[in-house]
Amino acid sequence: MTRQIYKVASVLLCMQSVLTFEEKKGYFWQVSDFHYDANYSSHGNPLNMCHQGQGQGYSNSQYGNYHCDAPWVLIESAINAMVKFHPYPDFVIWTGDSIPHVKNSDLDSLKVYENIGNVTLRLKQGFPNTTIYPVLGNHDEYPADHYPNGSTNYYSDILYKSHWHTLLENNTADEFKTGGYYQGHTKTGLVMVGLNTNLLFSQDPLTKGTGDPAGQFQWLRRKLSEARSLNKKVILFSHIAPGYFEKYQDLMWFYNDYNNEYIKILQTFNDVIATQVYGHEHTDSFRLVKDSYGEPVDILFLSPAVTPWNSSLAGVGANNPGVRLYEYNQNNGEIINYWQYFLNLSSVISGNPPNWALEYEAKKVYNLTKLQPLEVLALVNSFDNDKFNKLYMKYLQFNSVSQDVMPYCDESCVKQHFCAISELEKSGYQSCLHGEITTHHPRPHHSTPKAPPKDVPKYMEYVIIGLGAVVLLLFIVIALICLKKHRFIPNRYSRFNSNLASNPIN
Ligand SMILES: [Zn+2]
Ligand SMILES: [Zn+2]
Repeated sequence: MTRQIYKVASVLLCMQSVLTFEEKKGYFWQVSDFHYDANYSSHGNPLNMCHQGQGQGYSNSQYGNYHCDAPWVLIESAINAMVKFHPYPDFVIWTGDSIPHVKNSDLDSLKVYENIGNVTLRLKQGFPNTTIYPVLGNHDEYPADHYPNGSTNYYSDILYKSHWHTLLENNTADEFKTGGYYQGHTKTGLVMVGLNTNLLFSQDPLTKGTGDPAGQFQWLRRKLSEARSLNKKVILFSHIAPGYFEKYQDLMWFYNDYNNEYIKILQTFNDVIATQVYGHEHTDSFRLVKDSYGEPVDILFLSPAVTPWNSSLAGVGANNPGVRLYEYNQNNGEIINYWQYFLNLSSVISGNPPNWALEYEAKKVYNLTKLQPLEVLALVNSFDNDKFNKLYMKYLQFNSVSQDVMPYCDESCVKQHFCAISELEKSGYQSCLHGEITTHHPRPHHSTPKAPPKDVPKYMEYVIIGLGAVVLLLFIVIALICLKKHRFIPNRYSRFNSNLASNPIN
């Protein structure tokens, strides 16, 4: 009898795995903000971006200095670390900013194309058979922060002089020329949408008040609607994220009207957008998109930079160089977990070898079972309720990629992080900063009126009967296969069936 029950249970288990979409794990890298400075010198002046001048004799590490942008050795070291930790990801997302924080007079268009081109070739050398999805950063234009409202030769120059045509699929290169945004597809059918959110940046004087810079909003809505109608999921990636900087009060990245429009799109299409990743801040953080009822519906992952450069914004500070490996569901595009790797630059500066290492594993360190919006909201709420919370202290340390391991954060600093993470729009952010509680309206359960039943045409009845017969036939075939194989089932469900999942370092 027990044997019979076991047999039936095994068959049912097998059928369930065949008939439902199993979580199929895949991995991808995100690397951001290289800010490669070709003029970095180990004898240069740290107060002048480590550039060599007359009569200067400083001694900087070959791998960088917290006051300066990244030397080529650091760029190579970051890419080599990615290859070492996970050489065969499904793809690499590269979220922009390859140009250093130097004066416009130290640069020109050709230097910009060459600089970005060098990074492109080096990434391709590291991942020769992997698709690399690049997006532009606000520093990648010349002059920086001057993306025009419309098409420009700059986009074709990036494609051909910086070798991006070798990264983008053929038909997407044309799309890219209209405004630096494009769409691609993964092997498992996910839609990759790369945006140029620099067009929305409040430091760009050319796009202010132009409504829909380079037609990107309209294009994005169209692409998301298409994905929805085809029942496809989207991975969205861009350089600058919407909302506020968590380390600098009241600094919203986009123009306010563009921020509102962007958030509206994220809310409208949250059923289609599976994942979002951004760079630009150089810090390690995340954001929550809420729906009109105040419930979190999506997470935006903000990955730190490769450059260690100490921000020019007062009090923001420097960071250690970092790269990030995500684990995601290849079927629906959702992030399952991620591993943040880093180079402890101060240790390298003190003479130790440049060893990239795991800084933390997201789910483990934050005690989360899933990286889902509700769980992340609960985590963030615990930050605000108790500033001495151990998890909050961890978050703060990771925020600078462990450059500051004992960060000081007073009450207003705690508020700033909390409000930037949980409120992306102006009104919500301001209320949050001033201590007002954001109202969470319960979502009505029967808000959508049901459509009256329609008459089914006669031919549809035949189609439905035919489909029913096919499903029944499949059911019988699968049951027969499972009956034959049921004794192997315990192995398939072993906890130890994936070395990679338990230890992606190898
Ligand atoms: Zn940057
Ligand atoms: Zn940037």
